[in-house]
This record gives sequence, structure tokens and C-alpha cells, in this order.
Amino acid sequence: MSIPDHISPIVAYRVWQWDSLGLKSLNNQQWFPGCALEANTSRCRKEHAAPKEGCTCGVYAAKDLAHLRRSGYAEYGVHGEVYLWGTVVEHRLGWRAQYAYPKSIVLPPDTIPFRMSEVESRLESLLLYGVDISVTPAASPPIRLWSKQSGLDMAGFDWLVEKRKRWYSYREQERRLRPPTAWRCLASASAWWHLPTPTTCMS
Ligand SMILES: [Zn+2]
Repeated sequence: MSIPDHISPIVAYRVWQWDSLGLKSLNNQQWFPGCALEANTSRCRKEHAAPKEGCTCGVYAAKDLAHLRRSGYAEYGVHGEVYLWGTVVEHRLGWRAQYAYPKSIVLPPDTIPFRMSEVESRLESLLLYGVDISVTPAASPPIRLWSKQSGLDMAGFDWLVEKRKRWYSYREQERRLRPPTAWRCLASASAWWHLPTPTTCMS
């Protein structure tokens, strides 16, 4: 993916859905690796070049991540920086652009699959975009997992492995502490058996 040399792209913020095919807008529009997403008029259903001043068309992006968080969008998937260029219409909190391409991607903990084999295959879909990828522990700054220059970053990888270790050990502990379901059923049946026999009130 190359952005034309004579253009200084704006860097803004977006949220994407992330699955085995890569990134999608929240309205399910696919973002293809290596291809700029070009705005169309499917939103405004008018015949003009998108985006147009005073209209609703264009690729949307926020001026800062805090706005995505305040508006609740950040809960819907992965987020990150995005390059915007071409015709760009500015609004108070964001932009509508003609072209867009991801610059970096941050993976909140609840978007990462638990099984490492699944993590690997899902990450492969992201590596194709050629962007930096980070993971973000709760209430902490993001930790780099993949650099487009130098590849896998052990800081992010170690965090992923450690998080899984803790999860598996918690599940193991929980399994040991909780009696199997069949045993619990027997226990409650036995408790019921020892209740005093109901008496019938007869006048
Ligand atoms: Zn329009």
C-alpha cells in the first residue's frame, strides 16, 4: 500500500471488527490488505464524488481515541490509527475522507481468542495489512506485539502467553474447587431427603 508522495495524510482513529478475514467497518464493509478503502455514496445515496461538504458520505474517523471511547464505539472491536487522504471534510470531532488505510491496530484483551493456535491464525489476517499491532492490558498503555519493521515483539508475545497461563491455571483451580455436577445433584437430593416430612394440617 503506498500513499501518494505529494500527500500528507491525516492520522485519525477508528474501530474495526476483526475476524479471520481481517478488518471490517462496523457496518460490515471489508478493508482489504494493501488497498486503500475508497469512499462511496452508499450512505447518502446521491450522485456525487464522496465525500461532499454538507453530506454524510465518506470514510469516517475520529480525531481522538477518547471520543471513540466516550461514544461507546471502542467496545465494538479493535481500534487504531488510520491514514486519511484525498478529499477530506472536517467536523468538530472527526473527518469524512475519500481514502483511508489502517496505520496501527490495538487489540483489547476481549478481542483476542484464548487458544494460541487461533490467535496465530487470526493474527495472520492482520499481518497482511503491514501495520504495527499492539495488545492493551486493562487500564495500561498498549504493548507492542508486532512491528511492521522488525516483526514479532517479545514484550507483547510474553504478555499474551502469560495471560493464557493465568487463565488456564484459574480454570484448573476452579475445576478442583467445584465438585462435579453429578456429585452436587446427589448432595442436594440427600439434603432434601433429610428434611422433616411435611405434615398435613387437619382440622
Ligand atoms: Zn454524499
